[in-house]
Amino acid sequence: MRFSEFSLQPQILQALREMGYEELTPIQEKAIPHVLAGQDLLGVAETGSGKTGACGVPLVQMVDPTLNALQALILVPTRELAQQYVAELAEIARYTDVVPFAVFGGFDMAIQRAKLRDRVHILVATPGRLIDYLWNHALPFSHIRTMVLDEADEMLKMGFIENVDFILSCLLHDHQTLLFSATMPNAVGQLARSYLKDPVRVELNKEQIAPASLAHHFKYIARRDRLKALVTYLREETISQAIIFCNSREGVGRLIQALKQMFQSVELIHGGLEQPQRTSVYNRFRDRSIRLLVATDVAARGLDFTHVSHVINYEFPQSEEVYTHRSGRTGRMGRSGVAMTFVADRELNALQRLLRVNRIDPVWHDRVPSLGREARRPGRKAPGRRAGRRRRRSRSSGTDSAH
Ligand code: ADP
Ligand code: MG
Repeated sequence: MRFSEFSLQPQILQALREMGYEELTPIQEKAIPHVLAGQDLLGVAETGSGKTGACGVPLVQMVDPTLNALQALILVPTRELAQQYVAELAEIARYTDVVPFAVFGGFDMAIQRAKLRDRVHILVATPGRLIDYLWNHALPFSHIRTMVLDEADEMLKMGFIENVDFILSCLLHDHQTLLFSATMPNAVGQLARSYLKDPVRVELNKEQIAPASLAHHFKYIARRDRLKALVTYLREETISQAIIFCNSREGVGRLIQALKQMFQSVELIHGGLEQPQRTSVYNRFRDRSIRLLVATDVAARGLDFTHVSHVINYEFPQSEEVYTHRSGRTGRMGRSGVAMTFVADRELNALQRLLRVNRIDPVWHDRVPSLGREARRPGRKAPGRRAGRRRRRSRSSGTDSAH
């Protein structure tokens, strides 16, 4: 279905044409009519499927620009997502009088306050920053018609639930709530049950967690040989842009030291950077003046870098969901992408689980580990599920939790 078949304002259609949006993506096709009809909605779809537009297009259409009041509020888990979301809204709204704006941490509060007092119709915010703002300033919510929780799974994982609760409790009048998520853990179901009224449930590709255009490559390699293997891979593979993931800021710091000596155009991003630096790296990676980005999971959360050809899990992801989010940074919108994961012996249990849970068909480089070997080795007790779980949990320390 094409956008032109919807009765959208001509100004919006014009903008969408210029953005290259002609056909709706499947999630947009399923969601937009319900959003326009004012229904609550639970949208679950893989990363890169166009969830921002599914929400942004009808929101811009529904806002009344002659009413100078906040009419839609969108909560997102990270600053970068807030920037990206508001940029897409601004493009959709560029020929209308609808004003979108974003507030997020690390940005001058005085400027944000002035803008909010002046004129904002659609506000995108990270929960923490919005609450800071609400403590100190009035922000009338009485005209908000639509409330959006984007990347709900990430928001919960980052411990924003109380903030989200608080913000939602400030909305006393009847309104529409839209909840979007790439994955559907129980906690998201609970959130939906508490805040959505008779929601329409739009779910895509239930069986297919990651985009089909994504190939899952694995390399079985001892820890001590990992750096060498990475360097060889970066040299031999045709890479237009890659994100190389580590599990901690320290890991990122160590790896970037090594890579900077051998490669040009390599930068890092993690939660410890000052905001201007983070924005600069983010923008330069987006416009492709950086080719290799070494990152913690902060960079993986829903960010849309369209040209990433490779995601490299230099350090093994700490859960199946983290794998999904990381690898979702490539293979977007039907483009082909490669997720390459380095696996060491101690990660084989977690790997087996990953392959099963995410239904991954692995492409092995060089050596194939004999999976399940532990269980078959004579004279040793097979490791029970509990052992595997304990091991996984112990790996989850030292994460980059800043946002
Ligand atoms: P998600 O939030 O589901 O991860 P995004 O909303 O970030 O996905 O969209 C992924 C990419 O697809 C973005 O680059 C976006 O500009 C592009 N896109 C979204 N909808 C369309 C469309 N209808 N036609 C063409 N490109 C689109
Ligand atoms: Mg998104």
